[in-house]
Amino acid sequence: MSPRPRKAPTVERTRPLPLLDRRRILKGAALAAVPYALLPDARAGAQSQAVDYLPAEWQPATPSNYTASSRPTTYTVDRVVIHVTQTTYAQALSVFRNPKKRVSAHYVVRSADGHVAQCVREADVAWHAGNWDHNTRSIGIEHEGWVDRPAYFTNALYERSARLTASVCDRYGIPKDRAHIIGHHEVPGTDHTDPGPDWDWVRYVRLVNFA
Ligand SMILES: [Zn+2]
Repeated sequence: MSPRPRKAPTVERTRPLPLLDRRRILKGAALAAVPYALLPDARAGAQSQAVDYLPAEWQPATPSNYTASSRPTTYTVDRVVIHVTQTTYAQALSVFRNPKKRVSAHYVVRSADGHVAQCVREADVAWHAGNWDHNTRSIGIEHEGWVDRPAYFTNALYERSARLTASVCDRYGIPKDRAHIIGHHEVPGTDHTDPGPDWDWVRYVRLVNFA
């Protein structure tokens, strides 16, 4: 992603959410506002229902920043797109909550410890690839860091991201190879460079296959 996304394709307009999705989002937002200590059991239960990948923490994007859908019924999911945020983990989550930004990804992985936040349900179409075809067919994973600051690509980030990608590939039957696990720079028509030359693809794909 980039902090100031270029013009979104016209097809990426907000559509009204089905009632069930609205309820789900409102419930999630309400629970997120409750101090953790007050409702530990209820909150943990709600989280495990909201996320598609159980180790992830639910940190929802605003519904203004993605397209509600029912994948894989509506669109086949056959790609994982790897991104680097070009900002901090916290700022990336903040951008996804901001309806003016018109951008989101399904997941954000934190540099220091590999912690995973899920921001958009996998059934929904996140706006991360800058290409409608690739948005509809992919899961987008952001990694905290900058393309020219390789120190952000920690062991924990590689390992926990690889576990997430392996889970996605297993659940949708996506081959664990470079034809199906691609960088944002490989999306047709993009001018983005992430994850950049310092991203270790050989290591990453190996980790995905042995996760
Ligand atoms: Zn990107």
